[in-house]
Amino acid sequence: MVRMEIPGRGAYTIEYLVLDMNGTLATDGRISGKVRDKISLLAKHLKVYILTADTMGDAQERIERFNAELVRLKAGDEAPQKERFIREIGAEKTIAVGNGYNDHLMVKEAALGIAVIGREGAARETIANADVVVNEMIDALDLILKPLRHRATLRK
Ligand SMILES: [Mg+2]
Repeated sequence: MVRMEIPGRGAYTIEYLVLDMNGTLATDGRISGKVRDKISLLAKHLKVYILTADTMGDAQERIERFNAELVRLKAGDEAPQKERFIREIGAEKTIAVGNGYNDHLMVKEAALGIAVIGREGAARETIANADVVVNEMIDALDLILKPLRHRATLRK
């Protein structure tokens, strides 16, 4: 659990971190060691879910050393599936991080929605719906680990 003060919206008790896999957590299918270490750190405070349609069938292998739970989606219509997932666990207790078009609904629905541009770019709908847009996945994780950062970014 992490207490977050979100300017203009009040205090949130965050319990879940929901991450898109491809383009957000993984670049060209690879996940950096630094990102993995930060997620391990965050996993001490938050339950981490990684969402993917897993078209290659190797997602479990790729997150083997992660303290996170893999959630498989059906291929096609992923945006509403992701939205439904965070509604089920509790969107108001969730930070959602994504880059693609299929992340735009969950990023909007979450207590804090973060769009990651990364190396693969981000869909404009996801950027438009995000509370914060960052360059790299590592910056998104630092925003959560260092709450003062997002407070400064979102201050009105
Ligand atoms: Mg993606």
